[in-house]
Amino acid sequence: MKETVILDKKFREMIPGDVISKRIDVMAEEINRDYSGKDVVFLGILNGAFLFAAELFKRINLKAKISFVKLASYEGTKSSGSVKELIGWNEDIKNMHVVVIEDIVDTGHTLELIVGELKVRKVADIRVATLLFKPKAYTKKIPVNYAGFEIPNDFVVGFGLDYDGYGRNLPSVYTLIK
Ligand code: 5GP
Repeated sequence: MKETVILDKKFREMIPGDVISKRIDVMAEEINRDYSGKDVVFLGILNGAFLFAAELFKRINLKAKISFVKLASYEGTKSSGSVKELIGWNEDIKNMHVVVIEDIVDTGHTLELIVGELKVRKVADIRVATLLFKPKAYTKKIPVNYAGFEIPNDFVVGFGLDYDGYGRNLPSVYTLIK
């Protein structure tokens, strides 16, 4: 059993890199089939989705573009607490077919925010591709169309996901040893 240490925590390998790679092959095949003949914009959510987005996108054989946005926290001037906004939009996506690429969907708050922003921009339709999905934590109704792996409600790192900024370069997904 492969283990790794990041800062003060220990993690155990949960999904090996070669298994992830094969699963992404299948996800890309599905997307290529579902969007056959269509013009698609992939929208990666930074930072975590950068690796999955790259691996997925290079397997896409459609007429496709890719763009990335980032969720930034800022202190609201009037309201208390931190508010999240999406930064980095530079693509005109009106009337486009959009595939949102997430590293992990947990509660779905992030996804809801992104989908809300896309609807404002009047895209043709939206689907969601995520490498990891925590169905037990999910509280939203937005369909998660392409989910790589359903995982328990535990903290994971690797393949783009971090613990305090570290661990994104791990080629497998690791779960926290409690
Ligand atoms: P949600 O908005 O769906 O609750 O959470 C989405 C974001 O929370 C992800 O994009 C990711 O940044 C973070 N997140 C949720 N679960 C995990 C996890 O197990 N590990 C890591 N590294 N990040 C997570």
